[in-house]
Amino acid sequence: MSAIVSSSELAAEPPAQLVASTEAIACPLCRAWDRRPWGAENGFEAMKCGQCGMVYVTPRPKLEEISEANKIGEHRTADGALKVVYRRSPRKIRHYRDIVQLMFRAELEAGVPFSWLDVGAGYGELIEAVMDVLPPGSVVEGIEPMQPKVDCARALHLPVSSTPLAAMDRRFDVVSLINVFSHLPDFDAFLGDLRRVMNDGAILFVETGNGGDLSSAAEYPDRLYLPDHLVFAGVDHIRQFLQRNGFDVSAIHALRLDTVGWMAKNAVKRILGRDAKLGIPLSSPFRTVFFKARLQPRRT
Ligand SMILES: [Zn+2]
Repeated sequence: MSAIVSSSELAAEPPAQLVASTEAIACPLCRAWDRRPWGAENGFEAMKCGQCGMVYVTPRPKLEEISEANKIGEHRTADGALKVVYRRSPRKIRHYRDIVQLMFRAELEAGVPFSWLDVGAGYGELIEAVMDVLPPGSVVEGIEPMQPKVDCARALHLPVSSTPLAAMDRRFDVVSLINVFSHLPDFDAFLGDLRRVMNDGAILFVETGNGGDLSSAAEYPDRLYLPDHLVFAGVDHIRQFLQRNGFDVSAIHALRLDTVGWMAKNAVKRILGRDAKLGIPLSSPFRTVFFKARLQPRRT
């Protein structure tokens, strides 16, 4: 996923009211306090936990600032503000259609309609992909906190709304979380909120990068986008979060991003004066990882 950040936006002098108020935190996964520097950007530092190896931003903006930033798409940084406005990408629709067909083959072949909620739906690319492949009679909808993205998706007649997760009063057979994990300050609490909108035995479908498996940010194939990204997990970190919150991981699919096409795209961005990381194709240990996990039966 690429964001558009112009250098003039990053170079602005910070108005006093834009300086973020921050707080130091322990590792969100194992609660340990020992850690070492992993990467830095925009005046924020990402640290790697000395116990479990997960990477997280600390000190980080206070929770109310994170929540506000995720609504307006703008984060306060030491240099001013980081604007994160992602562009809608038709190529992503094909990409997600292939992934969903691969990872939900049994469910799709059964031909039984099911309900799917995409949380953090963005411009609705996953929704559009899912609508293409789900059995007739299925229900698909998305929720997204950032209003301009909602407006864009609705203009394309996609069922995306700005309804907060807490206000959802129905349950779904599948809930997806596509590149949302790294923006969440408390994944345990968020998984609790998700369980509330999931049917018994429902499937959680998560995509996130494996940044927490990398020894340093030098191996990360893109800018870090701190503090829009607050946490970077490895494959086993995600598995641990899911397991301790009542989900059993049933399938994992990892894809590399550092293809020749990706590197060529970044080279073009650089020529256009945009910020993009260059590297050697097929050399990065970074993967984007899809997890399929089933909600364990509720103990009542
Ligand atoms: Zn840890």
